[in-house]
Amino acid sequence: MIKKHADVGAAKNPGAIKEYHAHVYYDPATSRGRAERLREAVAAEFPQAKLGRWHDEPVGPHPQSMYQIAFPTQMLGAFVPWLMLNRDGLTVLLHPETGDDYTDHSAHAAWFGAVLPLRLEVFGKRKVK
Ligand code: ZN
Repeated sequence: MIKKHADVGAAKNPGAIKEYHAHVYYDPATSRGRAERLREAVAAEFPQAKLGRWHDEPVGPHPQSMYQIAFPTQMLGAFVPWLMLNRDGLTVLLHPETGDDYTDHSAHAAWFGAVLPLRLEVFGKRKVK
């Protein structure tokens, strides 16, 4: 017999989330203008958000050009619905920051628009307990 919900006792506590990142992907040739307008709108609507640099060249685990929006946990409830309505066709990766980069960018991640293949190997091999 297969036991269901064997991991219930090991449920993770969202209190471990220190902040969130939204990574906004764009194509320098075709969608940078939309990414610029979205960025300006985020800055105007959400002054608490920290806007990262433009990365026209792929960086870290990210397979396409992108910039990062770091924001506090208290902003999630207002920002996610806003982003759903205003991402203007751009692909967005939303992930928590719990201190486990590999899992935060894979099992913990949510995608808007598409799921891009991240280069998770940049985080190194994950040790399995
Ligand atoms: Zn991130």
